[in-house]
Amino acid sequence: MKSLRPGATIGLLGAGQLGRMLALEGAPLGYRFVCWGQAPGEPAAQVCELSLAAPFDDEAARRRFAESCDVATFEWENVPAALAKRLAKDLPVRPAPAILDTVQDRLIQRRFLKEHGFAQTPFADAAAPAAALERLGRPCILKSRRHGYDGKGQFRIEKPGELSKVPALPGGAVLERRVDFKKELSVILARWENGDVATYPVAENVHENGILRATLAPARLPAEIAQAAAALAAAIAEALKHVGVMAVELFWLGGSGKDQLLVNEIAPRVHNSGHYTLGACATSQFEQHIRAIAGLPPGSTSQREPAAMINLLGELWAGGEPRWDVVLARPDVRLHLYGKAQPRPGRKMGHLLLLGPAARDLKEADSLLAALRR
Ligand code: ATP
Ligand code: MG
Repeated sequence: MKSLRPGATIGLLGAGQLGRMLALEGAPLGYRFVCWGQAPGEPAAQVCELSLAAPFDDEAARRRFAESCDVATFEWENVPAALAKRLAKDLPVRPAPAILDTVQDRLIQRRFLKEHGFAQTPFADAAAPAAALERLGRPCILKSRRHGYDGKGQFRIEKPGELSKVPALPGGAVLERRVDFKKELSVILARWENGDVATYPVAENVHENGILRATLAPARLPAEIAQAAAALAAAIAEALKHVGVMAVELFWLGGSGKDQLLVNEIAPRVHNSGHYTLGACATSQFEQHIRAIAGLPPGSTSQREPAAMINLLGELWAGGEPRWDVVLARPDVRLHLYGKAQPRPGRKMGHLLLLGPAARDLKEADSLLAALRR
């Protein structure tokens, strides 16, 4: 693959905070950015040279995007696959749009993992709900096949009769056995077209109400498990022929050995649990993604110091603008705000990164969060 010359323009499909950080981290490499979002003023639009705000089936927007960009990539995996495929006739799209067919639909993603022999949560197509429940047993989680994020479109099935009360989910659903895990992990890696892979230290995630609350990196777990997690994620990236950064979310069941890891989901893009790399690692996941899609060499993934990333959700604004002075005074804390105007509960507004010895657990990060509240 020929490398993208400095001064070339990278097109981002989607315009959220991931796109914003991709543009901010790609700029020092000399690239320019265009984003395509659905509404004006989204986080990435504020930092890109050109931003389009139009439905993804808008023909004029597609032409403008294709004319303005030298390569296109995704900051969001729910871009219509048909649009990505149409764009690929006019310019390189990385990763290749076909990956969307596999990852956008939870059931197809699970079948892909199964075909390749990757261990995962037991699952069944919920098109025939009673049979699916019979096969898996309770407790289960019913998840919509498409457009789920932050635990949206998910229903816990714990008691008899609960499944029949769940409203019909448009586009179908998957039933998954609820896993009793010890820890949730994620592996962030980047893969290049020639098969090179660069993997970051495995991270440990804490979720609340289906939303990622915090990430600790490196994860506190046996080295052999971290190695197995990294190898598993690399094998998935290889099977997908992915190009760019990818995240693999895993459940660690708590024991030792390879069979202790189950795949929860794959995100073919930069990921919230990889935000720690921006600040804690030699190369951020955002720069790494740009390097991979631009055909530049891999950057070092070495981590300089322990990191704790904590998401700033909309409810933090309940009493007014949080007390940023509390964290801005700290040499070991970095504040990232995404430029979102409306702090709705559960909405990811920004994150804090705590670095150094205080980042080995979440105590200090939690007290910082409490101190921010008015
Ligand atoms: P996101 O896109 O934000 O990662 P999502 O809406 O796609 O989230 P999942 O990753 O499937 O959702 O689930 C969100 C969280 O719910 C998981 O990180 C985990 O904490 C919990 N969860 C999901 N599936 C299971 C399961 N089968 N067993 C136990 N916990 C689960
Ligand atoms: Mg998830």
